[in-house]
Amino acid sequence: MAHVHKLYEYDYEKGTIRLKNKKCPRCGSIMAHHLKPVERWHCGKCSYTEFVRPRKPTRKGR
Ligand SMILES: [Zn+2]
Repeated sequence: MAHVHKLYEYDYEKGTIRLKNKKCPRCGSIMAHHLKPVERWHCGKCSYTEFVRPRKPTRKGR
């Protein structure tokens, strides 16, 4: 399986293609998407990091 940095992401559930990269709210440059150890967006310019919420929120207990 080749690991290529894709600019677009295919949403199988909705059947749409969306832009994967998003802009940094702080400096406006394109942010990098990381999956490990946790899914997050990181800006290499100003080190702004935005954590992605899990798609399936687990509600255990409480
Ligand atoms: Zn930035």
